[in-house]
Amino acid sequence: MMKYAIGVDIGGTKVAIAVVDQAGNSLTESIIPTDLSIPAIKMVEKINNEIEQVIIGTGIPTDQLIGIGIGAPGPLDSKNGVITSPPNLKKWIDVPVTRLVEQHFSMPVFLENDANAAALAERLTGAAQENDNFVYITVSTGIGAGIVAEGKLLRGLKGNAGDIGHTVVDPSFGKCTCGQYGCLEWIASGTAIARQGSAIMGKAISTKDVFNLYLSGNEEITHLIERIFRVLGVACVSVINTFDTEKIVIGGGVSKVGAPLFQSIQAYVSEYALNETGRQTEIVPAKLEQKSGVIGAAALCFNRI
Ligand SMILES: [Zn+2]
Repeated sequence: MMKYAIGVDIGGTKVAIAVVDQAGNSLTESIIPTDLSIPAIKMVEKINNEIEQVIIGTGIPTDQLIGIGIGAPGPLDSKNGVITSPPNLKKWIDVPVTRLVEQHFSMPVFLENDANAAALAERLTGAAQENDNFVYITVSTGIGAGIVAEGKLLRGLKGNAGDIGHTVVDPSFGKCTCGQYGCLEWIASGTAIARQGSAIMGKAISTKDVFNLYLSGNEEITHLIERIFRVLGVACVSVINTFDTEKIVIGGGVSKVGAPLFQSIQAYVSEYALNETGRQTEIVPAKLEQKSGVIGAAALCFNRI
């Protein structure tokens, strides 16, 4: 009998809810806006109502629904099911989201940070189906990672492992919002690319504008982008040397630039990773993107039960 789980992906602007089957197919998807003007508890009530509608809408008998998985931005406490203080959900301080959802539905509820959930989605049905040792890296407005080691998601103490955005890769790029100099996220996130590109061009431009200038051969922007690809390579080498991973899957908006980024990182890795197998680590694009949030959240249930 096919089993199903509900995946809930809570983001700073929207919440996606889907019913996902064991094979990782999402059957229905519903999206509601994240209302940051109301208390978190009220927003969770809205999410509960929407989950209820989605369950009714699919008509799947409740005995085939094994649970509800929630992916949310960190920092959080996945073991206790609490969203603690995410910068993208400003009023969500110490919100016991797992308990609030569990009270409403008679099935188990799990919480995981969104990058970890996306890693599970890539393993279930995306670019890492064959891999027991891989790292998923999202390069988007921020940078985060989900680490799968020996077939298991590496969570750490509270579920915040893999926060590689604040790994120092090149202090010459200046002071990050966290206070350290030269964090990966400060240099290579979408936000950082737009910031540095704007400084070069002397006007506010978007990440997409920066990449268009790069693809059209603008010299100063090309220099910037090559340095950025290089620090992404530096970060990947650290990941490979630390986890002895066999594949790195890169997703998020910035990865959309495609071949130049992947070739550059692959070249850096094949030169600088410490051991022979490390130098052969595959650097590949994520497959799921938009849907990785809900599929990964649902995968939390298949992973634990
Ligand atoms: Zn930092």
